[in-house]
Amino acid sequence: MGQRIAVTSVASNGGDYPADDEELASGNAGERVDLDRIRKAVREILAAVGEDPDREGLRETPDRVARMYAEVFRGLHQDPRSHLSKLFTQKYDEMVLIKDIQFESFCEHHLLPFTGKAHVAYLPNGKVIGLSKIPRVIDVLARRPQMQERLTEEVADLLMKELDAKGVAVVMEATHSCMTVRGVYKPGSSFVTSAMRGAFKERLATRSEVLSLIFGGKS
Ligand code: ZN
Repeated sequence: MGQRIAVTSVASNGGDYPADDEELASGNAGERVDLDRIRKAVREILAAVGEDPDREGLRETPDRVARMYAEVFRGLHQDPRSHLSKLFTQKYDEMVLIKDIQFESFCEHHLLPFTGKAHVAYLPNGKVIGLSKIPRVIDVLARRPQMQERLTEEVADLLMKELDAKGVAVVMEATHSCMTVRGVYKPGSSFVTSAMRGAFKERLATRSEVLSLIFGGKS
């Protein structure tokens, strides 16, 4: 029998945000990562590229890589909506903006990391959410094989729906390892994606306002 571990047990000691009750509750005990299967596959890759998987330096590598994948893809087994269940009723209808939310994800084309910052704004419609919840939502969606474009849209669509917001704006800036360690070799280039929903999409002034708040200080 292959060794299997619950993804939530990895999540509770990984990442920037300590696990809270909701995070633990969002893990489904039935969803497991097959570590043994990953170990075998990594060993096979090492042999296929011409390495000796049994040499001392590589002996523990399949196990380390298996645990790493369980950690970085833990979001596959978590529901981001679990972080959005507690909304507060608030008569506040101005923009809420959280800047510089650091995130780490893995590109689904090369299984290499892309990392950067997310900026998220919303226009409340009578309901607001605790500030720590948005980074948690991003973390769940980012810890999956991803594309930055899709990640940006998923965050925007989810917040739009769950908060019943008047508008949501998500901008993500990231550096992709698959552009720096292979292929075009362009270190230092950053990739910017945005998703505008509701008022941010429909009203130029609202969109301009959020973009200047996000990028305003930069030259
Ligand atoms: Zn890639």
